[in-house]
Amino acid sequence: MTSSEGTPEGGRRAGGGYDLHVHSTCSDGTCAPAAVVALAAQAGLEGLALTDHDTTEGWDEAAAACALAGLEFVPGIELSAEDCGASVHLLGYWVDRGHPGLLAECRRLRTERDRRARVILARLEALGVGVDEERVREIGGSAPLGRPHIAAAMVEAGAAADLDDAFDRFLADGAPAWEPKHALGGTEAVRLLRDAGGVAVLAHPGCTRMPDGLFDRMVAAGLAGVECGHPGHDPEIAAAWELETRRRELVPTAASDFHGTQKPVKIGARTTTAATLARLRARRQRPAACRTSNREDSSW
Ligand code: AMP
Ligand code: ZN
Ligand code: FE
Ligand code: FE
Repeated sequence: MTSSEGTPEGGRRAGGGYDLHVHSTCSDGTCAPAAVVALAAQAGLEGLALTDHDTTEGWDEAAAACALAGLEFVPGIELSAEDCGASVHLLGYWVDRGHPGLLAECRRLRTERDRRARVILARLEALGVGVDEERVREIGGSAPLGRPHIAAAMVEAGAAADLDDAFDRFLADGAPAWEPKHALGGTEAVRLLRDAGGVAVLAHPGCTRMPDGLFDRMVAAGLAGVECGHPGHDPEIAAAWELETRRRELVPTAASDFHGTQKPVKIGARTTTAATLARLRARRQRPAACRTSNREDSSW
C-alpha cells in the first residue's frame, strides 16, 4: 500500500475497498444508517465501518442494510478522548458493544456533551448569536449532542452562513463559544477499546494537535493502526504519517470521515483495501473469557 491507498491510482478498481470512518444521524451525520449504506453501495464499496461519535446505536440498522446490499459491515465507534487539553479521536473496530466499561464511558460522554452544549449555547447568547436549545435538541434527535448540531441550528437561524462559517467564527477549538469536553486520556481510551475486545486506530492525526509523546504512549498502550488517509490530510501529511505508522509496525488505514450530503466529502473518498483490513482485524485480541456480546455480534 502507498499513500495513494484508496484512490484509483492505488491500483485497485475505482470505487472498491472499505470506508472505515463514516457517521450517521446516530451522531452528527445527516443520513440515517441505512441511507449511508445505500450510498456506499452506489459508490461500489466492498464494505464500511459505521463509526458514530461515542455510540454504537446505528449498528443494527447498518448491518441489516449491508446484508441486503451485499456489503461487509465492520462495527465501529469514534471515541472522544482528551490529552493535555487536546481533543483526540480514536476509532474502535469490532468492540463488544455490551462491554460495561465502554457502555459507561459512552453514557458519561453523552452527559458531558449535554453539559458542554449548554455552555456553548450560553456563550453564543452572550455573543449575540443565541440559538434555541430546544431546536438544537430536535436537530440532534437521539444522538449525543455535537457541535455540528449547534452549527446547523445557527445556519437555520441565520446566525451563520454555513457550517464552516459557524465553526470558523464561533465553534472551532479555541473559538469564542468553544468549550472542551472532558474525556479519557489517549492511552486510557486505547486501553478501553482493547479491553472491549476491539482494535484502536488513531483518527485523522494530521487534523489534531498531538501533544508531545502522546503517539508513543498510545503505541505502548496497544494502538493497532493510524488513519493516514483522510480528506483533511494533504499528501505530505498522509505520507509522513504512513512513514511513522510503518516504523512502529502499525496498520495504516484510509477513510472518508463521511458526515452526510451537506459536506463536500463523499463516502468512499478514501478507502482501505481488504488486505489492510485483514491485517487490522488480526490485531484483535481474543480473550479466553466469554464476552457479553450477543450471538449476532460475534458474526461481525
Ligand atoms: P464535537 O464532537 O462536538 O467535538 O464535534 C466534532 C465534529 O465537528 C467533527 O467530527 C466534525 O464533524 C465537526 N467539525 C469539527 N471541526 C469542524 C470545522 N472546522 N468545520 C466544520 N465541521 C467541523
Ligand atoms: Zn463528527
Ligand atoms: Fe473525528
Ligand atoms: Fe469522524
